Amino acid sequence: MSFCSNLSTCGFIKKYGKTKALELKGYLRKYCNGEKQDKCERKRFKENYGITPSENMTPIGMYFCK
Ligand code: SF4
Repeated sequence: MSFCSNLSTCGFIKKYGKTKALELKGYLRKYCNGEKQDKCERKRFKENYGITPSENMTPIGMYFCK
């Protein structure tokens, strides 16, 4: 599986990509470099509203604070 094409510009990854929290590792594995990357809620948000979601929005659509 290849990485998501948005990886280099994704605000969520820029802010939290190096965080060691377990759920972050899961998002990276399942979404950003996994079979669920087409189901990423960040992508859906951008498609639906035409704007980039908050950097705190996770791929499952919940908000992450660290
Ligand atoms: S959070 Fe979503 S948009 Fe960002 S890199 Fe991961 S799969 Fe792509």
